Amino acid sequence: MTIFEKIIAGEVPATIEYQDDHCVVFHDIDPQAPTHLLIVPKKVIPRIGEATQEDQSLLGHLFLVAQKIAQKRNHLKSGFRLVVNHGLDGGESVPHLHIHFLAGRSLQWPPG
Ligand code: 5GP
Repeated sequence: MTIFEKIIAGEVPATIEYQDDHCVVFHDIDPQAPTHLLIVPKKVIPRIGEATQEDQSLLGHLFLVAQKIAQKRNHLKSGFRLVVNHGLDGGESVPHLHIHFLAGRSLQWPPG
């Protein structure tokens, strides 16, 4: 069981920003921007490369939740960044699919 499953189950505390039947959004414990949230599906998909056709609507839902968060936190105009890390080179550290939502400062490109 990953740390994210424990957070979803309420066994490990986290600052929850939003949740619905399909996902939980909480603040990253080690924020890389003034706003750094993790959009996490309740369904266990280890990483994006292991999602299947069956996950199509769930994956779309996660992006629409990101849009909702951006709207709610007033980042639609100023901007924000969504990041999904897959595997070693991608910088993945928790094997439970999640979208990083980063906002609140001007983010650099390319990423390090
Ligand atoms: P990844 O590196 O897999 O793309 O992202 C995992 C993220 O989870 C990291 O940004 C890390 O700071 C965050 N994280 C790891 N453990 C915890 C935790 O116990 N609570 C919260 N809120 N975030 C965590």
